[in-house]
Amino acid sequence: MAEKFKASKGTADILPDAMAGHRLVVETARAIWERAGYGTIETPIFEDTGLFQRGVGDSTDIVRKEMFTFEDQGGRSLTLRPEGTAPVCRAFVEHGMSRLPQPVKLGYAGSFFRHEKPQAGRYRQFHQIGVEAIGTESPLADFEVIALLDELVSELGIPGVTLRIGSLGSLDARRSYLEVLKGYLRERSGELSEDVRERIEINPLRAFDSDHEGTAVVMEGAPRLIDHLDGADREHFDEVQALLRAGGIEFELDTTLVRGLDYYTRTIFSFVCDRLGAQSEIGGGGRYDGLISQLGGPETPAVGWAAGVERILLALDPETETPSPDVFIAWADEGDRERAVVLVRELRLKGLSAGIDIAGRNLKGQLKQADRTGARWTLILNTDGSGELKRMETGEQQTIDPGDLAGLDLN
Ligand code: AMP
Repeated sequence: MAEKFKASKGTADILPDAMAGHRLVVETARAIWERAGYGTIETPIFEDTGLFQRGVGDSTDIVRKEMFTFEDQGGRSLTLRPEGTAPVCRAFVEHGMSRLPQPVKLGYAGSFFRHEKPQAGRYRQFHQIGVEAIGTESPLADFEVIALLDELVSELGIPGVTLRIGSLGSLDARRSYLEVLKGYLRERSGELSEDVRERIEINPLRAFDSDHEGTAVVMEGAPRLIDHLDGADREHFDEVQALLRAGGIEFELDTTLVRGLDYYTRTIFSFVCDRLGAQSEIGGGGRYDGLISQLGGPETPAVGWAAGVERILLALDPETETPSPDVFIAWADEGDRERAVVLVRELRLKGLSAGIDIAGRNLKGQLKQADRTGARWTLILNTDGSGELKRMETGEQQTIDPGDLAGLDLN
């Protein structure tokens, strides 16, 4: 017996009836970033493993255990991209985009890969849309990117969404806070989960994100980064908040917010949806002022976000729909078959959506097929060259010259 193939577990196939919803999310996002002056960029599906080790950070879950990494024939280590920001920054450096007028504003959409435990809203291959504003540290840029994700939420009508924001401070300011936090965690290491305990020295901030009960209790009393921001960081964060208020974008201040990637500095934000279960974040991001220099480029502050297409679709739960043709061409007499295929081709070239049976069925079978495809009109070719045009919904029928079909109002 032939072997049956299944996509590896956790890979979300997008079937034709779900494609309209998927496309709506991606196209709405693209329209939103393009009207704000963001160009669209596409980077390769895989990159040098080192890009993510350096960019995303060795201490993150993504790099420690979630990357699909393989060796190519030349012995190089490659990784299927787990996220989009490091690749976009790599492209920024590689193409000398620091010579362009700043900021450089980019948007992207594509597939991403993480070896996570698959569950609702968490897949091993998933789709993200994202934007990056690179080359300015102005709070106006933080405001603009947050506003774009807010526009996506309202344009798609995603229900139950809350914006949470926080600030991680600049890398320098954060260093002294991290020492304070590590001290606090060390003193209470017995109450922490093993995972958090192991990472006290390398990534203590992640303790805020733990769902381990004992850890959560410890973290309630933990010192907050927000209380350790220096003057410039605080001012920056205050300005971002003032702009959000002026722009009428509601938000909640979240002093425990952390993100799963190491590169963030200053502003971080997360859009969560109360219609989703455990995986409630539809999108999020923040500022990453150190990333481009870390990847070998000039000091370049930047801010951006990524949102999950599948998560948005789970929250929206759109009707599934399969495209149906405007008109279905059928024939009774075998001698009219060629006329039918030529007519369908002409109609399609003129931009009409025209259906035809390509399985060689008789008239009865063709009409059944027309019904199944949801065609709004059917034209049955007569042997005398004319055709019977039938409106499927009402059954009304009229005789026409098939050559006139493209000019008719088929609504
Ligand atoms: P991140 O790149 O981790 O900041 O995630 C940004 C967004 O991508 C999240 O808010 C989710 O909507 C989505 N996302 C991240 N990981 C997955 C996954 N494994 N499956 C589906 N969506 C994901």
